[in-house]
Amino acid sequence: SERTLVLVKPDGVKRGLVGEVISRIERKGLTLAALELRTVARSIAEEHYAEHKDKPFFGDLLEFITSGQVVAIAVEGPRAIAAFRQLAGGTDPVEKATPGTLRGDFALETQFNLVHGSDSPESAERELKLWFPDL
Ligand code: ATP
Repeated sequence: SERTLVLVKPDGVKRGLVGEVISRIERKGLTLAALELRTVARSIAEEHYAEHKDKPFFGDLLEFITSGQVVAIAVEGPRAIAAFRQLAGGTDPVEKATPGTLRGDFALETQFNLVHGSDSPESAERELKLWFPDL
């Protein structure tokens, strides 16, 4: 079994899609190991997205992720990292995510793509330590 960090980003919380995201995680057969609604400190956001610090969209990304509450979830199950990436769909909600995925069904713009999911075991470990240090 494996753990991954899932975030329902501020767009998802504002639009009332937290239940939809959790529902799809549960229906897939994954389980919730920890869950918290919280506002994101700028320092956490910077560390979370450190790999993007030189990208042109980094400023907008930090602004967005700290613009409202997020729901952070530690999701657990066999191949949880890849399984949630499958549920989320590709980063660009129109060009990459297909219908039937969270982004394909509920998002239009890359910046406002509803959810985050760790992309590798290394990222998952780093991100879970950052968001759920006591887990
Ligand atoms: P996440 O890390 O949120 O799960 P991802 O792994 O699918 O997304 P990354 O390439 O790691 O995608 O980008 C991280 C986040 O940065 C994206 O989810 C999106 O919110 C934002 N982002 C990526 N590319 C762009 C872009 N070209 N313009 C605006 N925002 C972007």
